[in-house]
Amino acid sequence: MTATSGTVWDDVVGQPDAVRVLQRAASDPAAMTHAWLVTGPPGSGRSVAARAFAAALQCRGAAPGTASGTSPGPAPGCGRCQECTTTLAGTHPDLTVVATEKVVITIDEVRDLITQASRTPSVGRYRVIVVEDADRMAERTTNVLLKSIEEPPSHTVWVLCAPSVQDVLPTIRSRCRTVGLRVPPPQDVADLLVRRDGADPGLALDAARAAQSHVGLARRLARDPEARSRRTAVLEVARRIRGVPDAVLAAAELVEVAKAEATAATAERDATEKAELMRALGVGDGDTLPPKLRSQLKHLEDDQKRRATRRQRDVLDRAMVDLLSLYRDVLVVQLGAEVELVNAAHADVVRALARDATPEQTVRRMDAIGTARERLEGNVAPLLALEAMAVALRPQG
Ligand SMILES: [Zn+2]
Repeated sequence: MTATSGTVWDDVVGQPDAVRVLQRAASDPAAMTHAWLVTGPPGSGRSVAARAFAAALQCRGAAPGTASGTSPGPAPGCGRCQECTTTLAGTHPDLTVVATEKVVITIDEVRDLITQASRTPSVGRYRVIVVEDADRMAERTTNVLLKSIEEPPSHTVWVLCAPSVQDVLPTIRSRCRTVGLRVPPPQDVADLLVRRDGADPGLALDAARAAQSHVGLARRLARDPEARSRRTAVLEVARRIRGVPDAVLAAAELVEVAKAEATAATAERDATEKAELMRALGVGDGDTLPPKLRSQLKHLEDDQKRRATRRQRDVLDRAMVDLLSLYRDVLVVQLGAEVELVNAAHADVVRALARDATPEQTVRRMDAIGTARERLEGNVAPLLALEAMAVALRPQG
């Protein structure tokens, strides 16, 4: 927060080592690598780091303290020049960001990227292509990408992001320079929310802890009272389950909440996409779709359905991570460990659960949540996975 204050690196929270590497690469074209792999757990800020790096690569601002000029300063990424601001806003003409909520990145999308990568930059120093979920590519698609990454034009920089190195095929990762992000400390995340969003410091720290330093989630929790009450509702489920009937009800409720949240998040976008497709197909408002174009619409609807399903599973998984954090706190209290509670704001629930069980029982409940997460990941029907979990959460004896 010293050397980089007021720059594009500001939002790359709690990652001094990664920032140092990326800054150095951007300031020394001779040491430049044309393919990067940014890894880090969800919420660690992979895409934020990738964009900051892209901005630093394009930056034409001068180093602090020198007169403005066209040559980049020793610490590029001034955050003020047009290259920086448009890159961060995602509107720089030489920046392409593939931010996908789809299950997979298609081979056609990758071919399109490769075409873009081959073009000379129009105004910037480089053509930068950021792929936010490089792990969502089938092997065949990856192979198409390989050649461009292997011998990229000198003006092109690929920045691939993935949760871990193992999520990317060895052929790709061996050609990339890797930068690993860590889970940032909650206080760093809280500071960011206070600085960027003007959040209340206490609320920001609660949110950062509750989100276990996932920056996006923490921001939502700090900003959106409904997100906070949804999370509280999930934690309350743990206290409400007394017997099997409660457990079955609670599971159904969790699935419903996830479905509602997933729908709310995607409905608007689905409608826009459909309208765009209809326009592209030359079908006016209120016209019926000619039969031979129906497959196009079906294709889109299938995509949207997959996206909704994925989102619902993500929401459910997050609910389970919240529950897991609750029982982790319960265990902390039961063992008398001197560690901060993730759910300090729900200390009453934590204490009540700690009184009613032994540490062994708490560990078994955590295992049940872990199992449910695995089953959900393995495409078991959400209700089934959650019922089994909820039943295991009920008080014993
Ligand atoms: Zn700049």
